[in-house]
Amino acid sequence: MYEYDVIVVGAGGAGLRAAIAAQEAGAEVAIVTKLHPVRSHTGAAEGGINAALREGDDWTDHAYDTMKGSDYLGDAPAVEALCKESPEEVIQLEHWGMAFSRDEDGRVSQRPFGGLSFPRTTYAGAETGHHLLHTLYEQVVKRGIEVFDEWHVLDVAVTDDDEPEERSCHGVVAYELATGDVEAFTARDGVILATGGLGQVYDHTTNAVANTGDGVAMAYRAGVPIEDMEMIQFHPTTLPSTGVLISEGVRGEGGILYNANSERLMFEHGYANNDGELASRDVVSRAELTEINEGRGIEDEYVHLDMRHLGEERILDRLENILHLAEDFEGVDGLEEPMPVKPGQHYAMGGIETNEFGETCVEGLYAIGECACASVHGANRLGGNALPELTVFGKRAGRHAAGEEMGEPKITTGKTGDYEKGTVDSPVELGEPGSGAVADGGSAAETADEVVERTLERQRDRIERLLEKDDGVQHASIRADVQKSMTRNVNVFREAGALKEALRDIREARERYSDVYVEDPSRTYNTDLIHTIETRNLLDVAETITVGALARDEFRGAHWRKEAQERRDDVWLKHTMLSWNDGSPELWYKPVVLEGEEKTYEPKVRSY
Ligand SMILES: Cc1cc2nc3c(=O)[nH]c(=O)nc-3n(C[C@H](O)[C@H](O)[C@H](O)COP(=O)(O)OP(=O)(O)OC[C@H]3O[C@@H](n4cnc5c(N)ncnc54)[C@H](O)[C@@H]3O)c2cc1C
Repeated sequence: MYEYDVIVVGAGGAGLRAAIAAQEAGAEVAIVTKLHPVRSHTGAAEGGINAALREGDDWTDHAYDTMKGSDYLGDAPAVEALCKESPEEVIQLEHWGMAFSRDEDGRVSQRPFGGLSFPRTTYAGAETGHHLLHTLYEQVVKRGIEVFDEWHVLDVAVTDDDEPEERSCHGVVAYELATGDVEAFTARDGVILATGGLGQVYDHTTNAVANTGDGVAMAYRAGVPIEDMEMIQFHPTTLPSTGVLISEGVRGEGGILYNANSERLMFEHGYANNDGELASRDVVSRAELTEINEGRGIEDEYVHLDMRHLGEERILDRLENILHLAEDFEGVDGLEEPMPVKPGQHYAMGGIETNEFGETCVEGLYAIGECACASVHGANRLGGNALPELTVFGKRAGRHAAGEEMGEPKITTGKTGDYEKGTVDSPVELGEPGSGAVADGGSAAETADEVVERTLERQRDRIERLLEKDDGVQHASIRADVQKSMTRNVNVFREAGALKEALRDIREARERYSDVYVEDPSRTYNTDLIHTIETRNLLDVAETITVGALARDEFRGAHWRKEAQERRDDVWLKHTMLSWNDGSPELWYKPVVLEGEEKTYEPKVRSY
């Protein structure tokens, strides 16, 4: 049994920044992570970090762009915190030695990005995330913060009081890959989930295989509401054969999108007459798919992204990494020919419901980074707004968990007062077959030690059962079927029939999962076991995405519905919330917070 003040789960940008902040605030901190920190997916971020740093720019403009980009589903207190504090975080990174690209005069360079009214994206070539991650990890090493890497967290130790708002979190239980040991980590003051994205719910994604939504699934099963899960970002420029990302930085530098007729599609077909290629991501993804569906795609599958006109010198200076990706994964020389691109799953705007300090409704449980929903991105994230979210909210949550006084939050968490109940027209029963009978929920103990101990025993039993069962269904086929169904049915363009089809497929997958077994009996380095556990998380996450998508019958941001092709502010200016309720999911709603510090962001028509 290990014991610390603050346990951070995950060592990407969010987790590392939180650990540094908690330690600076005087806490004894440990990071528990299934990957080595510098293998975290933050390292794959290419394009940059938005920060209003220069004369002529202002955080209030950044906040306006972000609220507009969110299609008015962002919560203003979180959006304003992001935009106000991002500049100081960029300066902090620079002081810690991050190798930002620079202009001739020595200032940190900034480039245009989609949906921004000012060129405010700071970057380090096309490897911004790599530099960010290494810079933060150096600080963690320097401070002697303990890192348990290749420890896979299986569950959070949460009390089982009737209402989630009365529950508290006292630690986590994790499986060590190298030894097969299952151990408890007690947190005296707080557990911070920073487990990243969930792209593996889809089969065409820019996300790594480790991005399986573990934190979202664990928090959900512990009773924490999950927010706006239908809001999935599909990035317009991914390589068709692998899903590898071609950064928005290419369009930021002047890259152009062409259809099969060599038309500059964004202008020729009127998708974004002002901003063209630099319209918001949801707009560009829909434009590309419309071209493909109407027969103007190349090989009926993709469009072209051309950067040749930028010239070799500029490409090598600012986008060299893109040349390698196009060559290595698609066999295309970006200096000589256009690159094939199509939309692919990229980012989850929704996630674990938190306030602007990263707190969930369960006392002592925090969430930050891509697994969390504060909500900064609402219905659509602007490129370059995820990395500042990691540092701004990582720092905030780290300080809060370590006990710093940070004032009253303006964003509520959990069900408050007369919350609005929702219904969804699901063709199948949702949630856990046999509801509640899983080894993943809260525990039935009273004291903190008992809660941790009970969670440990449950997870040890779970691992033993998985390893001892000697036949049944393997996770891989279940995972592949759900990924295919999600890509086919819950993609950029959505309609009720297909969404219901996905719910049926998820239900069937859940039933097959109840007979899952692990073929590899090894006690150490058993990746078959780990993938089996992750697949369970994917099932819960896939269902939340699809339920949200079916319930929200409007077109907002990344969420397009065939049956209702307009934004319906009269009904839908609210967040979709899902609570697990011991295996029987409940849909409910909470209002969007549009009131900022000095102004209210009135919803307007969103055009680019
Ligand atoms: C290809 C790509 C390019 C991008 N480019 C940009 C960009 O230029 N600008 C921008 O703003 N955003 C960008 N994004 C988005 C942004 O990079 C991510 O949202 C962000 O890095 C996520 O950081 P994180 O710390 O939340 O998660 P991650 O960096 O994914 O880290 C998650 C951590 O959680 C750990 N973990 C997960 N599950 C468990 C478990 N069960 N037990 C223990 N540990 C666990 C992992 O080991 C890992 O350390 C990009 C995303 C992608 C995919």
